[in-house]
Amino acid sequence: MHNICVIAEKPKSKVINPKNSPLPITHYPLPIMSIAYFHFYAELNDFLPRNKRRVKIIHKFGERASIKDMIESLGVPHPEVDAIEVNNNYVDFSYIVQDGDIINVYPISVNNTQSISVRPQPLSIIRFVLDIHLGKLATSLRLLGFDSLYRNDYGDEELAEVSHNQERILLTRDKGLLMRSLVTHGYYVRSTNPQQQIIEVLQRFDLFKSVSPFQRCLRCNGLLESIAKETIMHLLPESVQLQNQDFHRCQSCAQIYWKGTHYERLQQFIDGVLNSEKTEQSNHEHH
Ligand SMILES: [Zn+2]
Repeated sequence: MHNICVIAEKPKSKVINPKNSPLPITHYPLPIMSIAYFHFYAELNDFLPRNKRRVKIIHKFGERASIKDMIESLGVPHPEVDAIEVNNNYVDFSYIVQDGDIINVYPISVNNTQSISVRPQPLSIIRFVLDIHLGKLATSLRLLGFDSLYRNDYGDEELAEVSHNQERILLTRDKGLLMRSLVTHGYYVRSTNPQQQIIEVLQRFDLFKSVSPFQRCLRCNGLLESIAKETIMHLLPESVQLQNQDFHRCQSCAQIYWKGTHYERLQQFIDGVLNSEKTEQSNHEHH
């Protein structure tokens, strides 16, 4: 919208030059175009077309707009933005962009002690709601103990509402969904690989230390409780009765869990995820 310059068809008319210049000026009612210069930092470039990444963007606009709307018109969802600097001053999302503004937009990963964040207060408890395409990520988050709502029939509006009303971080691969004004805490999951996605989310929200596996129901997100074997004996196949002593039950859907054949595989998955943090750290130390 802002990039479009509309020149209205208008009959040519000569305007009398007030200063009596010898040359007549042919006057067309052109819309007034303003220019702002944008520089997006670090991972915010992921949202820009390739030719606009890591360069100064010359952005022409003809309408009054808040900086939040202008940043989103360039493709960057507002929940990804941490701080905005205009002509060396920090501003909030309501700032109206002026002609000639030089604008730096920073993501959360760029730590600038001086900066004034546009973000709402960080959430005291990290909880998630995930869009319908992130079912495997939701299961992985639950396995690692994180409260993660997921349904394969959530609509966009509902996701935005759940995120807003329950103060849950919206995880999605839909930029348009993140741009909804209701969404204040959200994150665009970059990877399409479920194994990478879980590592990405743990890194982004600094959650490696909070991992607490086998606490939540993988099916429904409910909390698990220990349950005496006698209580559920009649529900178990005979081989399970013989080989297992520890049982947990979901407080919400009553699903029963024990260290069965999947356990080894799940434990390996968890170890792999936790080891990825160590690999990441040693990479940082060496560079
Ligand atoms: Zn359950």
